[in-house]
Amino acid sequence: MKAVYPGSFDPVTLGHLDIISRSASIVDELIVGILVNNNKKPMFTMDERLEMLRESVKDIANVTVKTFEGMTIDFARENNAKVIIRGLRVISDYETEMQIAQVNRSIDSSIETMFLATGLEFSFLSSTIAKEVAFYDAGVEKLVPPIVVTKFKEKYNK
Ligand code: ADP
Repeated sequence: MKAVYPGSFDPVTLGHLDIISRSASIVDELIVGILVNNNKKPMFTMDERLEMLRESVKDIANVTVKTFEGMTIDFARENNAKVIIRGLRVISDYETEMQIAQVNRSIDSSIETMFLATGLEFSFLSSTIAKEVAFYDAGVEKLVPPIVVTKFKEKYNK
């Protein structure tokens, strides 16, 4: 079974990595897809996000990282993936995630969305929160992998 895990990953957090490692142990092959052009103005360039993700998952044999443009469902199809992985944190994630999943299913019902509940310790964590904590130098090491800590230091010049 092949799956894709799409997102902005601006930057990747330990919450994302928790979802990646847990889903990689369920499926045969996991392709993490970094979405280009999704209206959000990113802090990190695509190359930086790719580098941070690749470095963070390098020890997980069945995970690869790619970038993609356009719809997740097309990204899944192009990669012959039958499953889209998404992480659920709090109840507010549920509404949007359910909408996205229903739209995707109406486009191609042969591809299923699979939700993984966040690890409890990461349920408050988002890329936005990680950026804030890094900005205030308030212990971002607990929220993101080491390569992201380094990149934050470069960005914020600390
Ligand atoms: P998007 O812009 O698509 O929401 P994100 O990079 O913010 O991209 O998130 C990608 C996926 O990872 C989403 O399914 C999101 O719910 C999930 N996710 C983000 N942070 C966490 C976390 N701390 N724990 C579990 N899942 C998470």
